[in-house]
Amino acid sequence: MSGERTRAIRAGLNSDKTWNAVIPPVSLSTAYRREEAGVKPAYDYARTGNPGRDTLAQAIGELEGAQGTVVTASGMAAIDLLLHDLPFGARVICSHDAYGGTRRLLDARANGGRLLPVYVDTADLDAVETALAEPVALVLVETPSNPRLRISDIRAISALAREAGAETAVDNTVLSPILQRPIELGADYSVQSITKIINGHSDMVGGAVSCRSATRAEQLAWWANCVGVGGGAFDAYLALRGLRTLPVRAREQGKSAARIAQWLQQDERVARVDYPGLDSHPGHTLATTQQSGFGQLISIELAGGVADETVNRLALFSLAQSLGGVESLVNIPAKMTHASMSPEARLEADVPDHLIRLSIGLEDAEDLIADLDQALG
Ligand code: PLP
Repeated sequence: MSGERTRAIRAGLNSDKTWNAVIPPVSLSTAYRREEAGVKPAYDYARTGNPGRDTLAQAIGELEGAQGTVVTASGMAAIDLLLHDLPFGARVICSHDAYGGTRRLLDARANGGRLLPVYVDTADLDAVETALAEPVALVLVETPSNPRLRISDIRAISALAREAGAETAVDNTVLSPILQRPIELGADYSVQSITKIINGHSDMVGGAVSCRSATRAEQLAWWANCVGVGGGAFDAYLALRGLRTLPVRAREQGKSAARIAQWLQQDERVARVDYPGLDSHPGHTLATTQQSGFGQLISIELAGGVADETVNRLALFSLAQSLGGVESLVNIPAKMTHASMSPEARLEADVPDHLIRLSIGLEDAEDLIADLDQALG
């Protein structure tokens, strides 16, 4: 098997049989002509499948070590896809500090009685075990969690869940399959918001569910077609272009993030730095056993609990709610990415109003440090 950089770069190259284009062309057609009514061609209707989306799914699946991957219209569609065939009223354990939109989705499904979400600090194995004492269908773990970057033990949780008859899905958005491969660690699914570091250029929205089981991948592809949440052809083209440089970007952004986290930690204007690459991070040792890098996200609390004024003084970090792009972003989760969570839920997940999340891009780390330095005042 070739290395991850080779696989990412070569994905789908030279597959065009019409013109021998090196880069696979985008197929925007909604419909594909049949030779005969009763003979189904490889593609017949774009909701069901299109060649570019399949190439992207294959590339992500190979990087995740999956038996099959379904590419969806967004990261939320990918998470929702996992919920479609759960029994009515099924209990779903979810990391208590998962992305705000994930909690909003589970809470919305709970309102209709479709599901019963149970929010647990999945970094605490005893808490997971206690929650598994009652029947559970799915354990949805976000690790590192966003924004607190808590680390949950994928191997241990997958084993506990399997013993209890539950499946485990890991939201792997923060790290991508370059820095963490949940299926190889025992999980049943690895979920991605492709919108983030996989695409990396902040110009499309997409998601993916990679599956340990080929049968489950087929079932989820059936659901994606049934409810119409498969990814679009042009978005797949953009994401595949981004994915070619994913291994290089993920590692370079991680290197800058480590440098910046260290700088922030020694600065007395900063009261707390959450970055799993720091020795002081409570999940650092565990992270080194299941991650091959620490990613591009850093969360900080400033001395005096200020946030807005400092964030507004930043020039090289755009105030915007995404992560993983080549451009650095700053976000105040309580007012932006996690605003849909109730104040009580934010308190429980320890997402205070003054928490600041930085997504480190590919600018020069020294320039980013100089910008933080002037903004800290
Ligand atoms: N999972 C995580 C960890 C996220 O940060 C996000 C979005 O911010 C999502 C899922 C949802 O992805 P999307 O915005 O592509 O629907």
